[in-house]
Amino acid sequence: MDEKYLLRCLQCGSTFPDAFTNSCSHGHYSLIRTEYRKKQIETGPGSGMFRFSDWLPVEGTLPVDSGPVTFRSSELARELGLTRLFIGFSGYWPEKNANVLTCSFKELEAYPTLLRFKERKPGSAIVVASAGNTARAFAQVSALTKIPVVLIVPESSRDRIWTMVPLDTAYLVTVRGDYSDAIAFSQAFSGAGSLVPEGGAKNVARRDGMGTVMLDAAITIGRMPDHYFQAVGSGTGGIAAWEAGIRLLGDGRFGTRLPRLHLSQNLPFTPMVSAFRENRREFIPEKDMPAAKEAIAEVYSDVLTNRNPPYGIVGGTYDALSATRGRMYAIPNEAARSAGKLFTDLEGIDLDPAAAVAAASLISACEEGVVGKDATILLNITGGGYKRVQEDYSQYPVEVAASAGAGDSPESFVRDCRKWVNANA
Ligand SMILES: *Cc1c(COP(=O)(O)O)cnc(C)c1O
Ligand SMILES: [Zn+2]
Repeated sequence: MDEKYLLRCLQCGSTFPDAFTNSCSHGHYSLIRTEYRKKQIETGPGSGMFRFSDWLPVEGTLPVDSGPVTFRSSELARELGLTRLFIGFSGYWPEKNANVLTCSFKELEAYPTLLRFKERKPGSAIVVASAGNTARAFAQVSALTKIPVVLIVPESSRDRIWTMVPLDTAYLVTVRGDYSDAIAFSQAFSGAGSLVPEGGAKNVARRDGMGTVMLDAAITIGRMPDHYFQAVGSGTGGIAAWEAGIRLLGDGRFGTRLPRLHLSQNLPFTPMVSAFRENRREFIPEKDMPAAKEAIAEVYSDVLTNRNPPYGIVGGTYDALSATRGRMYAIPNEAARSAGKLFTDLEGIDLDPAAAVAAASLISACEEGVVGKDATILLNITGGGYKRVQEDYSQYPVEVAASAGAGDSPESFVRDCRKWVNANA
């Protein structure tokens, strides 16, 4: 093949070229996956995430120094009695050369997603529904690249949508309701003329962008880790880590075994833990997410509260866990808070609540004796440095273009938004 990559449906095996394609043309309930021509990765120059562009579904690169960093823990490792604990950090932490200024690994998804979108779908705008971290990441990347975005978030997330440079290429809609209400409202925008849904976990650029955490770790450590710990809401990061592992296996220089996935959710909302415990691919809502609304309101980390995660879909979280002999953890708020505090005291940076959940899952695995003390472990700290970034930079809140009630009819909102896209895209 001459293309840098092709897309393959994991159900029927057919391949196709990329036209910002996010699903199989035969309509299969399956993720599609990138297959890169280059089987051995060569990292490019600089410290940003585009040094991994061999395995990103984009033709060009962006000149950014935002990217994952990996370092070996000494303090937390000692506390837990581990000898080879590595931290993958996506956030702001200047001493570690970590320059993800919107402070979560959603920024690693946003760069390749917007660049792929611009390359494959010029003249339109991408629609992103988010609980907050994703919208902020896309806002920031839009501000830097001038690629227009439409962002739809719950009103309660409004304060989380800021950028590090002024932004005039985003259309922000707030919805009075929770994350699921924002997603439902966004559906009317998707596919309306020049408005294109970003695709979430189905978008290969999002997964391969997140997968750079695993690539950075394997290249820094010199091999793949034995264990990978991450907190999940959709599980996309876990799927991405698995897929990156498959590529590294094919590369041949980073070991012969896939990292085991240890994925965690935050009690009392833990649908994937509940389903996976019974080795079930399908959710039983009464059992796996009873009283969902109330449960979601109680968790410490609300970015982990996706009600429709890509769990059972072919190539999704269930398959990622099964293929890696994975485990899942249900973490109480209290355990997450104290793990976050321990991490901050020992390592010296503030954490996103989701990263605190992941840290708690590692503590739990150590207590249960699930990981050997000399195993090579990667703890994915998916967000952090919010306090630190505020000390060093000013932030610009993103202006709201429209505000809707969860039950409002979206038509007039879509019409106004389309006008904005036609004037700006
Ligand atoms: C979104 C998010 C997660 C969960 O990511 P998945 O998509 O479920 O893999 C974890 N941590 C942070 C900081 C996040 O923003
Ligand atoms: Zn197919």
